Amino acid sequence: MTNPFDQLVEMTRALGDPARDYAIIGEGNTSMRLDAESFAVKASGHQLHEIGADGFVSLRMTPILALLDDPPATLSEEKARTQAAVLDGRDGLNASVEASFHAMLLHECGARYIGHTHPTAVNQLLCSEYAADFARQRRFPDEVVLCGPQSALVPYVDPGLPLALEMRKVVRAYQEQQSEAPKLILLVNHGLIALGQTPTEVLNITAMAVKAARIYHGALLTGAPTHLPADEVEHIYRRPDEIYRRRLFVQK
Ligand SMILES: [Zn+2]
Repeated sequence: MTNPFDQLVEMTRALGDPARDYAIIGEGNTSMRLDAESFAVKASGHQLHEIGADGFVSLRMTPILALLDDPPATLSEEKARTQAAVLDGRDGLNASVEASFHAMLLHECGARYIGHTHPTAVNQLLCSEYAADFARQRRFPDEVVLCGPQSALVPYVDPGLPLALEMRKVVRAYQEQQSEAPKLILLVNHGLIALGQTPTEVLNITAMAVKAARIYHGALLTGAPTHLPADEVEHIYRRPDEIYRRRLFVQK
């Protein structure tokens, strides 16, 4: 039987591939649900492109989710509570400061794999006045099929627990409006998060978000981007043949 970490490692290295320009140096992090009670998240200080299975920390889900419902008074309390949730404690290995949003998304959105990166092409827009327009509208059919009818947009918040709390509000509002979880979350002045059922889905969503950002940027340079009408977006997203294609894309 293959080790479940093999796929997580492969996905993480692909997201960190320098040729893709999604993340450099210590940027980005990834996670995977292990079972109903636990998940694995990248340890801080590891680089995506050269990570191995020893670059991940396994954590119990419940105590990390409790950080959001009962926030610690200090950063040191947050660290101590996070460390107490570690299942496979090894010296010097600390969970990413973004572990709290990974737990929240795995729990609230039913995702099995999560990839968080800072692609230059996407951040060009997220660090501009066009962030909301890029997130809420769609330009072409495959952007709808892979990334969903909209992206959830999170305003800039200090990374760590404050970001997890703000993101939970945004994700719940999105689910209320769309009756399903987002596939792509955009963080203003920060980066993106792809939510998938498989590593392939995370890679596909990220690649399509980067392509969409490049198209948006190019359209800005030649005039102004034009968007698909909302009813066309809805139609494409719900078409049986597109749902079939979407299923094929995630089967690995
Ligand atoms: Zn980040």
